[in-house]
Amino acid sequence: MTQLSKENPLNKNVLNNINRKSVLQPGEVALVGSGPGDAELLTIRALRFIEQADVAIYDRLVSDEIMALLPESCERFYVGKEQAKHCVPQGKINELLVQYAQQGRKVLRLKGGDPFIFGRGGEEAEFLLEHGISCHVCPGITAASGCTTYAGIPLTHRGVAQGCTFITGHMQNDGQLNLPWQSLSCSSQTVVFYMGINTLPSITEQLINHGRDANTPAALIRKGTQPDQQIFRGNISTLADLVKQHNITPPTLIVIGDVVNQLTDTALAKPGFLDAKDYQMKMPLAVKAG
Ligand code: SAH
Repeated sequence: MTQLSKENPLNKNVLNNINRKSVLQPGEVALVGSGPGDAELLTIRALRFIEQADVAIYDRLVSDEIMALLPESCERFYVGKEQAKHCVPQGKINELLVQYAQQGRKVLRLKGGDPFIFGRGGEEAEFLLEHGISCHVCPGITAASGCTTYAGIPLTHRGVAQGCTFITGHMQNDGQLNLPWQSLSCSSQTVVFYMGINTLPSITEQLINHGRDANTPAALIRKGTQPDQQIFRGNISTLADLVKQHNITPPTLIVIGDVVNQLTDTALAKPGFLDAKDYQMKMPLAVKAG
């Protein structure tokens, strides 16, 4: 059995009772989702890969709190990207992963959220496999799930939203935002846009043009699940102004749908905590009906 360091949280007996299946061998890569920021949202599998890594290649969206969990001896390479400003091109990242694996290192590829949701994890895995390098894959809590939950927004709610769609608001290479607007404008679903802050005016315009009610509740969640998380609530027609007024920058998620104000219509006292006192003051009818 692998020896765990004294200071590591996995030393807790209760976690040791969970059978260890995540063993990173020299020459292998672990492609790991770190969730939206709060280290408590890491999976146990993610934490186990983190503690075994001797080299970590990580993105901008991996929080400092999570980076602090890496072993001291682990080498760190930042390959973060910002929209349109690629720090290290994707091709180079792929090559780095192969190089380190071929040197017999235990390589951790650490990504924000889930590696397979708008994370290019599929491309990296493909490249590794093509080069004969085996790869452990580990999901993370994706921003749409983690950030909405920590903002007190249920993505689906009986009688309010029967489904939800995660979609990218990032423009295609031709400078267009060609999305299935008709289906995104259906009122019984929640729509979550990733990477949409720069294209927000066209997103809201298209939704309204395709029949979504301009008064549909909407929210912007910046740095969701982190101690400095910000939530801005409005409706489809006010979102673009909110961005200007508060100078909202990435990483921000756009959430559209009636679920936005289902549990609360204000910022929470702390991320991920719904205060019963606030709820009873704001939603007295809902409490009675319950
Ligand atoms: N693989 C990631 C998404 C990467 S795309 C995942 O599964 O979550 C990057 C976009 O994700 C950002 O532009 C933003 O829209 C969203 N995002 C990621 N983390 C976020 C966070 N903590 N708060 C708000 N938005 C976040």
